[in-house]
Formats: sequence, C-alpha cells, structure tokens
Amino acid sequence: MTEKSNEQEKEVCPVTEYLKAFRIRLHSEEKQSPALRSALAEVTRMITEISLGRATESHLDKLVMAARSLPESEQDLVASLETSLATSREKWLMHVIDNACNIGICFEPHIAPCQEACPAHIDIPSMIAHIGHGNYDASLSVLLKDTPMPNSCGLVCPAPCENACVQKTVSQPVLIKPMKSIAARCSTSYPMQEIAPATGKKVAIIGAGPAGITTAYYLAQKGHHVEIFDEREEPGGTMRYGIPNYRLPNDILQDEINQIRKMGVKIHNRYKVKHVREFLDQGFDATFIAIGLPFSRRLGLDGDDLPFVLGGMDFLSAVRDGKDPKVGPHVIVIGGGNAAIDVAMTSFRQGATKVQMWYRRTRKDMPANPHEVEMALAEGVELVELWAPTKIMEGNLIEFARSKNAPDAATAKPVTIRADQIIAGIGQDGDIAWLDGSKIELEWGNIVADPVTLETGEPGIFSGGDIQHGASTVVAAIGSGKRAAEAIDSWLMKKEMDLPSLKPQRRDDVPYLPVDAAFRLSKSRPHVPEKDPDTRKWLHDFIQYDWDENEARIEAGRCLRCDLCIGCGLCELACIQVGVEALKMVETGNRRLVFEDFLRPASLCIGCGACASVCPTGAIRVENRDGMRVTEITGTVVRSQPMQVCSCCDKPFVSSVQYGKTRSNMGGPGDTEVVTCPTCARLRAVESLNDMRWIGASR
Ligand SMILES: Cc1cc2nc3c(=O)[nH]c(=O)nc-3n(C[C@H](O)[C@H](O)[C@H](O)COP(=O)(O)OP(=O)(O)OC[C@H]3O[C@@H](n4cnc5c(N)ncnc54)[C@H](O)[C@@H]3O)c2cc1C
Ligand code: SF4
Ligand code: SF4
Repeated sequence: MTEKSNEQEKEVCPVTEYLKAFRIRLHSEEKQSPALRSALAEVTRMITEISLGRATESHLDKLVMAARSLPESEQDLVASLETSLATSREKWLMHVIDNACNIGICFEPHIAPCQEACPAHIDIPSMIAHIGHGNYDASLSVLLKDTPMPNSCGLVCPAPCENACVQKTVSQPVLIKPMKSIAARCSTSYPMQEIAPATGKKVAIIGAGPAGITTAYYLAQKGHHVEIFDEREEPGGTMRYGIPNYRLPNDILQDEINQIRKMGVKIHNRYKVKHVREFLDQGFDATFIAIGLPFSRRLGLDGDDLPFVLGGMDFLSAVRDGKDPKVGPHVIVIGGGNAAIDVAMTSFRQGATKVQMWYRRTRKDMPANPHEVEMALAEGVELVELWAPTKIMEGNLIEFARSKNAPDAATAKPVTIRADQIIAGIGQDGDIAWLDGSKIELEWGNIVADPVTLETGEPGIFSGGDIQHGASTVVAAIGSGKRAAEAIDSWLMKKEMDLPSLKPQRRDDVPYLPVDAAFRLSKSRPHVPEKDPDTRKWLHDFIQYDWDENEARIEAGRCLRCDLCIGCGLCELACIQVGVEALKMVETGNRRLVFEDFLRPASLCIGCGACASVCPTGAIRVENRDGMRVTEITGTVVRSQPMQVCSCCDKPFVSSVQYGKTRSNMGGPGDTEVVTCPTCARLRAVESLNDMRWIGASR
C-alpha cells in the first residue's frame, strides 16, 4: 500500500485504509497458521478500536509493537503502517485524542444501511422488528415519524433500502418495501401526531404531491397554519394523476391524505397559482413551491405533433381523470423508464391488443424498476431493444434507426412501422412559465434553491420535490418535504435549522426476535402475490393481493438488526485471537462486516465469551441460562451447550467444551471426574495455605 501517493490524489483516512488492508489479509483465502491469524487479529482489533473511538494515545505505540511482532511475510504491510504512523501522525492522533476523522468517516453514527439509503430515513430495523413481534400499531408509529404516506409509499417505492440491505451480501435483501403496507393495513388505529401550540404563522404550499403533503404534515406538527393549493381536482400529485390505479389504488392514497386534513391542513383544489408572491401578498408568512413535473416531454422529432402521437403523462392523467381515452389496437411506446412501463400497461387497459416498447438500449440498461419490467412483459408488452426513433410521418408511421450500441449497427437499415398511437414515455417537464419575472432562478427546467435551506431567490419562498431536485421518486419527494418543513420553520421562528434532526433517527427500542439460526440467512425471499397477468391486463383494479401478515412476520426474522450490530468485526477478531474461529464475517461494501454463517458456531463456539466482552453494542451475548451456556447474536441462539458443574459447590461455571479445551491445553486430560470452579479452587488454596501455616506454627 502506498498511502502517500494515494493521499496526493485524494485525502484518505489512514485508519480506514489500514483497517481495510488488515481485514483483507485476515479474510484472504490463503492458508494461515493460527499464530499468524491471532497476531493479524490483534493488529486489526487495535485499528478497529481506533476507528470506533475506543483508543487512547498509548494505543499507537502498542499498535507498532503488535505490528512488529508479525512474521516476516507481513513486513511490507507493517513497514507501510509504520510509515503512515510517522508521516500521517497528526491524522492518527486526531482519531485517538479528539475522536475526529480527517475525512469524517470514522465516528459517524453507525446507521443501518437500509435506513441510510432511504431518502426519508425511515427507521427500517425498528419498523420491521415490530412487525416480527406482531405489533403493527407500533410499527406504524415508527413509520409515521418519517413519512406521512407509509402505505402508498409501500406500494410504489423503488426501495433503495433493499438495494443497500446487507443481507444482499450473504443471501437476498430483506423484503422491506411491502412491510410498510402491512403496518398500515394491520394496525388497529392511525396514531395522530402531536401538534405543537399554534405559532400564528401561515404557510402556503403550492402542489399537493408527496413533497407538498409531507411539508404540510411536518409544519402542522410544529404549530403552523398550513394551506395547500393545487390545480387538479384531487390532491396527490403524480401519485394520483400519473401512477396508475392498478399500482396505487386511489382509496389508499386518499385515506393517507385525509389524515393530513385531520391535522388541520386545508387543501384547496382546482386552484392554479399564477403569481409567485400571490400568497405572501395575501398575508402568508412563507410559500413552498412543489409543483412537480406535470408536462409530458415531447420526442423532439419531425412529426411529433401529429394527432396520433401522445404524451405519456397526458395519456396517464387523462385515464386517471376519468376521461377514458381509447387507444389501439397497436400502440408503440417510446422509452425505458417507469413512466414508459406505466404507459405500456395502461394501453392494454385502454383498448390496445398489441403493445410494443421500443427502447434505444437493452433491457438490462432500462432505468425502470426490474419488477415493473417483469410485470409488463408478463402482461404481453413486447420489448424491442436497440432502436431509436428518427421521424414520425403522416399515415401513422414512425421510422426507427438501429442504435449505435447494436452489434449490427453498421449494416442494419432503418425500419418504418405503422401504429395506431405512438406514446412518448421519455420524461416530464415542469410548468414554469408563470415564474418568469420573479427572482426565482431556473436551471435545466428546475427551480434553483439552496441545497440546505431550499430557499429560492425570492425571500420567504422555498421549493422542493421534483421541480427542484429533478424527476425522482415519491420517497425522494418525502425526504425533500421533511427538509423543507425544518427550513421553513427555522425561517419563520428565526432560529437555526436543526440539521441533526434531518439525519437518520432511532425511533424506538425494539427487542430482538428469537430467530432460528438456519433461517437467519435463508435465501427464501418471499413474493407479494399478484393477480393473473392475462386477466388483470384489461382491468384498472389493483394488481396485488394482500401480502399475508404471517409471512411478513417470518420475513422480519431475516433482518439482521443492523441498528444493533454495527458490523465492526470486533467479535470475530476476539474469536480468532482465542484460536476458535467460530464467527466468520464478510465485507458488505457498506464499511461494515456481516456474519457469513449463523450455523458455523453450532459446532465451533466454545462459549468462552470473548466476543461478548468486546462487542461495543451488546449485539452478541454469551450467558448462562438454566445450566446451559448460550451464545446469541441479535436474537439468534447460535450455540447452546451444557455447562461444567463444580464438584465442590455444585454450581455451573464454564461450558464443558471450554473446560475440556483448557485442560487439554494445559496438558491434562480433556475431562476429569473432579472439577473445581475458580472460586472453590481459590478457597481450597487459601484453606491449604492456612493448614500449612497452622502446621508450621504448631511445630
Ligand atoms: C408515470 C409516472 C410513474 C411514476 N411511478 C413512480 C413509482 O412507481 N414510484 C415512485 O417512487 N415514483 C414514481 N414516479 C415519480 C413520482 O411520482 C414523483 O417523483 C413525485 O410524485 C414527485 O412529487 P412532487 O410532490 O415533487 O410533485 P408531484 O407529485 O408532481 O405534485 C405536484 C403537484 O403540483 C400541482 N401543480 C403544478 N403546478 C401548479 C400550479 N401552478 N398551481 C397549483 N398547483 C400546481 C400539480 O397539480 C401536482 O398535484 C412516477 C412518475 C410518473 C410520471
Ligand atoms: S438486514 Fe435489516 S437492518 Fe440490515 S440492512 Fe437489511 S433490512 Fe436493514
Ligand atoms: S456483534 Fe458486536 S462485536 Fe460483533 S460485529 Fe456486531 S457490533 Fe461488532
């Protein structure tokens, strides 16, 4: 490792770099002697402790000593470590003296990767654990701390949390997304959020999509008077007028929006806002603009204004508006994202019998959620890959050229296809003309706002959601709304923004689930059942069947509780150091380790407790329970073994395996008839000493 040259390119944290290097040595496939493994584990443990803030200055000298005791084969790594400790001394010192990291990655709270990846920072491990305990009310309460729309979001979210789930490294990610709907569906009541005393401040929100609704939800809780203004017939934004009913039924969405109304938020529909300062002039103290991207993006080709060419958002929104636009029999959809998939599937429901998606890349490059693609293909949507449209002509004709990425790009001739409708599903644009003349800046069709405060160029006017951060997801809009509420509150109340409150929060303290070791890393990820594609494709009814809550409870057991086990690896290192190696961990890519196998300790763990004594969180426990020594990792008993009973006091004091191992290490027989616990052995020694003194005195 050449830390110096790395440092010249980009600032690195030497502690993290050397921790990585020593972990790689320990986890290498190469056969290593127990002595080498123990010595490597010792050095790795010391660096881990530095990264966790559990070290003092004297640690650095001890680290050098420990590293120097490594054999010749490791000397390159040792020399590099020593150079770093000398040349980057101040960085190492700031870690051990100030518990500060030069690039700010050590000492950050160890948030569960799923929670960190969720733009709304939902406390996923607590939410899931409550479901596992069958406590749906508590699960919903946890969810409502971070989102006003758990059920709707649970149906449509692309689930970035599942992508970050550490279970992915060892089996399959936990099925997190529909857990939210289970909590909402199975809870006995909808807990109302506490509302602070009225502040007398009034906020106008333009747009009743997820960004506007979320901002209202949090501002109302802070005691402000909030009114939302939206040009559509009903609130919900793109969730109501873009996402089809068969994926997000209207009644589920409206139920959640009604909860916001119950908090005192007024929603004015059929109100198109035309002037930026309209509400400030009416006496509101602040305005939040969350107008989304309601316009279909045009293809930008000759002929894209012909009557048989439709915009994807126009088509979907006409369907959701009840206008029942008819299409077909042959519909061609252009695009490869989620909106294009929705257009394609909706086309069947509006009369088409042949639906093709023409996409310029291949299926694996499609930005659409892979599950949505599978659903569309199951309904009979044909995917035509590697063709890009070039022009549209009278007579319902469209020409495609072979994409540059196609293997036969050089020889393939353009093709002309006849279709009844061409529908563009290539993106959306904002309705921003009314912002002209204001101090609000625009960039690439989006409103420019301060990334921290979301304030625009007009004082007192804030903006968030798709119109500010660009086309994204419902959960991103919810995250944006949370930030907006905090920023607007601080502006109204003339106080600092509480930025830590926007970081992931622990919302509850939920006990472990008692999960079977074999199941913990099971690859059996369940599926939410869906209706038969051949029947459902003609109907707008909800595609899914309800997920069985008992299945959800079982699935909850696969969650590894990354809120409690921070994946630091200290337990594995302790286990290597005692020469047992019952615990085996692997890297997850989230700067964490994860247990590779919960069954391995069943044959190897000796119940010595070395792991539990170093665990900084109490995630691993070694306890005596009813005469057995039990080793438990975040609720899973990985070994339960009989204890050795003291022949003298009749009390169990050590696992019999450990007792046998210690005896054999000391050169004695593995088991023996006369067994004495350390307390009795000490008493006996004192007694015999006293006897000897008495004998000596009597002489
Ligand atoms: C077809 C389609 C499918 C999608 N599928 C998914 C999905 O499955 N999962 C997912 O997470 N995301 C999905 N998205 C993206 C998601 O819907 C958006 O990211 C999200 O809704 C953005 O929220 P928002 O509050 O910023 O804006 P919006 O939800 O667009 O809400 C903006 C609101 O502002 C109102 N408005 C606009 N201008 C004015 C004005 N001048 N005066 C008054 N009101 C106004 C509009 O009527 C609208 O109600 C999809 C998007 C589309 C287009
Ligand atoms: S195992 Fe559980 S806590 Fe860990 S990332 Fe996955 S869902 Fe989150
Ligand atoms: S069980 Fe404890 S020591 Fe082991 S990785 Fe988890 S937090 Fe670290």
